[in-house]
This record gives sequence, structure tokens and C-alpha cells, in this order.
Amino acid sequence: MTCPFCDINKEKTRIIKQGEYCYVCFSNPRLMEGHLLIISKRHVEKISELNKNEKEELINFVVEYQEKILNGLARGCDIRQNYRPFQGKSKLKLDHLHIHLQPRHFEDELYKKCQIFEKSIFKELTREEIDKINAKINCSTLSKYAQKNQNF
Ligand SMILES: [Zn+2]
Repeated sequence: MTCPFCDINKEKTRIIKQGEYCYVCFSNPRLMEGHLLIISKRHVEKISELNKNEKEELINFVVEYQEKILNGLARGCDIRQNYRPFQGKSKLKLDHLHIHLQPRHFEDELYKKCQIFEKSIFKELTREEIDKINAKINCSTLSKYAQKNQNF
């Protein structure tokens, strides 16, 4: 299977901006009007695989286009990057790094059909959970901070 994002420059109508290392383009399919993608030109799967210049342009495009969305399209804008190697490839899941910019409105369709259910998933954070996760991701400094601040 060829990678649609490696070939994105063939779809001139979708591309809004081309930088040295990244593209900004319309998402197709899209979740809502104005759903944009910031795509690295180089085929990598994770942000950590980008070099310094690529990361810098990527985040600059994210900031620039989130502001454009907030100034012209919507009062809110989510920034999302999914890394889910356990999912198979499909039209909705590619292994080529991209960041979603999703314009958001009060109680929009995404909220009403999906995110309203997140409320039932949130749980109170416990001391044991902090220690367990810190041990797994090696965040001893954060752990010390948490121990000093008992409001965790
Ligand atoms: Zn690719």
C-alpha cells in the first residue's frame, strides 16, 4: 500500500501551504468543516523521529493555523496527534506523522456524538497511580514534586 501522505503533493487542491519540511492541508475525510492536517514531508511515524528543523516548522505551522482557525472559523480548536501502531492501516489510520487541527464549537457534533461520553471515563487520580506510572515512564523528578504537593 502506497502512503497517501507521501503522495499528498499530487493533490494540489487540498494543500494550503507548503513549507520546507511540512504541508498544511485539508483533511479528507474530515470530522468537521475546517479540519486541517499538518503533515511532515518525510515519512516518519512519531514526532521524536523528526529532526530539529522539521519539529520547529511543524510546531510553527500548528500555532499559525490554530490562530487562523480561531480568528476566522471557530472559538475553539483542538490539536491532536495520534500514535497507535496497534491499529491496522486504513483510510482513517495512516502511519505517516500528521497533526490534526479541529475547529470546535459549543456542543458541536463531535461533542454530542462522542466526547459527551468522556465524562463517564474520568476518574480521580490517586497517589498509587502516580507512583505506578512514574515508575514505568521514569519520571522520578515529577514523583518528588508530587510528594511535596499533597493536593495530588
Ligand atoms: Zn508517508
